[in-house]
Amino acid sequence: MTKYYGISPKLLNIAEKADKKIAPLLDSVSSLAAYNQLKVLQAFHAEGLRAEDLFGTTGYGYHDRGREKTDNIFARIFGGETALVRWQFVSGTHAISTAILSNCKPKDIIAVLGRPYDTLRLLLEDSEKCASALAELGVKVYHLIPDNWPVNPKWVAQKIPKNTNLLFLQRSRGYSQQPSLSIKKIKEIIKECKRRLPSLLIMVDNCYGEFVEEKEPGDVGADFIAGSLIKNPGGSLVPTGGYIAGRKECVKKASERLLAPGLGENLGATLGFTRSILHGLFLAPQIVGEAVKGSMFSAAFWEDMGYKVFPKWKERRTDIIQGVILGSREKAIAFSKGIQMAGPVDSVVQPEGWKMPGYKDEIIMAGGTFIQGGSLELSCDAPFRQPYIVYLQGGISAAHSRLGCILAAKELEAIKAPV
Ligand SMILES: *Cc1c(COP(=O)(O)O)cnc(C)c1O
Repeated sequence: MTKYYGISPKLLNIAEKADKKIAPLLDSVSSLAAYNQLKVLQAFHAEGLRAEDLFGTTGYGYHDRGREKTDNIFARIFGGETALVRWQFVSGTHAISTAILSNCKPKDIIAVLGRPYDTLRLLLEDSEKCASALAELGVKVYHLIPDNWPVNPKWVAQKIPKNTNLLFLQRSRGYSQQPSLSIKKIKEIIKECKRRLPSLLIMVDNCYGEFVEEKEPGDVGADFIAGSLIKNPGGSLVPTGGYIAGRKECVKKASERLLAPGLGENLGATLGFTRSILHGLFLAPQIVGEAVKGSMFSAAFWEDMGYKVFPKWKERRTDIIQGVILGSREKAIAFSKGIQMAGPVDSVVQPEGWKMPGYKDEIIMAGGTFIQGGSLELSCDAPFRQPYIVYLQGGISAAHSRLGCILAAKELEAIKAPV
């Protein structure tokens, strides 16, 4: 296989060194996956899932038992009273912004910790060109940008304005250098903030975080959370969709915003999607485990290749993202080319940077994935901005992530030594 891909003994050697480094840590990831597997299975058992629940409904989708059970299963797993799991959410951004928009009204204050993910900036951040969508609705957005990370929970509690209605936290680093928020940190922030402001609502963007720890934000006091089904909880199988889970009144408002006032959670045909949503959820803990193992390998490998990485291979993780600082546009392109070459689909395609809707900078993405943009599958994203960081994520199997890294390294070597 090394011959087939033209991998040099030097690269192979670095890969083997990385294998050895991370080997002692892999057992703990397997145990985590096993724990979360049982948590998921228990939720299926508690809801008494039946074969006929998987078929789905058409038209209005009244009395769809499979949809109701899916919502309940998600609620159990993500620590909420209820959940809204729908393929009608077109993306994670759609689910998250539905959750935010439905839970605030004019004159409210939303506090946002750190910089939100790129696609949420039009909703949350003002720019030279336009006011944020929330500001236009008369909702005040207050940004809390700490001087240094990791953030001190007491600082957050002191800094949020006294009449804040909603605090928005993002678990994963997204595509930025600010570190991810561990469940422990989220718990402390929630505790400190609620002590000072008991009626404050706290929402967590859970994208990329599901099943990376034993607990979820809902287990430690978040009022509602949201995420994407083409990331972790979809187990790489779900073709599209998103979810919101949390307190009844918050999720109900979101369901009425997604559909129409008065319709809420009782409508929405599932067509044939229930099967893949639950099949994917069932696989998710295992596949997230593979992705985490792949990220650990990647951290060790790229560090040995001479690049700065975050997090480091030994660090505890709360998401599946691995950042590698490449330093130039040319390298970001070469790296993405290598990842694309490793994909099971479209491996012959050469990725290019483009102005993707919702993203401020040009961005290059690689993903020879079965689901378009599915990022629990091996994929990488590199916004074209200094210092040219590539964010690598996913991998249905750790072996695939490993090959992806090696092929990316081969492409990088090719630009260093042009023939
Ligand atoms: C991916 C992501 C989103 C948005 O999800 P899409 O499905 O790409 O719209 C939001 N927040 C974070 C932290 C993400 O990683």
